[in-house]
Amino acid sequence: MKLNDLSKITDPFSKTDKMPVLFLGHGSPMNAIEENEFVTGWRTIGRTLPRPNAILCISAHWETRGTFVTTMEKPKTIHDFGGFPKELFAVEYPAPGSPELAKETKSLIKKTEVGLDNNWGLDHGAWSVIKQLFPNADVPVIEMSLDFSQAPQHHYDLAKELTTLRNKGVLILGSGNMVHNLGLMAWDKLNAPNYAFDWALEASEKMKKFILEGDHKSLINYQSQGKAYNLAIPSPEHYLPLLYTLALKSENEKVNLFNDKAVAGSLTMTSVKIDPVTI
Ligand code: ZN
Repeated sequence: MKLNDLSKITDPFSKTDKMPVLFLGHGSPMNAIEENEFVTGWRTIGRTLPRPNAILCISAHWETRGTFVTTMEKPKTIHDFGGFPKELFAVEYPAPGSPELAKETKSLIKKTEVGLDNNWGLDHGAWSVIKQLFPNADVPVIEMSLDFSQAPQHHYDLAKELTTLRNKGVLILGSGNMVHNLGLMAWDKLNAPNYAFDWALEASEKMKKFILEGDHKSLINYQSQGKAYNLAIPSPEHYLPLLYTLALKSENEKVNLFNDKAVAGSLTMTSVKIDPVTI
């Protein structure tokens, strides 16, 4: 064994340059197997990323009472959807897990007791997008769950405790959708480019303004932002991963938006990349 390998075992998450943080609007699971502008957007961003030691994903599709992190060596690919073609159910994303990162994450978070989970795996909120960033499935991935019993401020504060992971080569990735109302989707407009209802556009513009101004307080208090917001966020799970991403932004860091398009009236794919300041 080389000395280099030994150091990997003793400290797999040694200090690195600060990693970017992502929020990806994931949209339809079909994005895992289709070619479209959103997939192109993710791949383009993927090429700008330094190679991470591991990925910590907060997905809209894993809600629990309490907070958990996946701790298995080989997370399974979960096909947590119905009514899609066989081809999509055949997709496997065999990235390894990282029990080390799971333990490190648990020890970092003081706000709540984080449980170690050995049953979940990678849901489509994670694999459908990570697959496009790292197609070789050679970067370890863990997921952290969303505690559905907690208020938005709790999620934001909890995310802040993950800050030091950015300096340990961990890519933290929130996966959801900022505007996400499947009940009001205009299914006949699925192929109409960038089709948004007025309220969806209004909510989206307001969200982007708050993001770019760094007004996180207004984003946390999303339930007091009026009717357009209420329609855009009928339930919190697709929105909360955004708060995790933004909580990790330090002062002076740049926020870049991409894939800023609407789909079928009531969903936006708008995604965020927070870039470390380079001197
Ligand atoms: Zn989703």
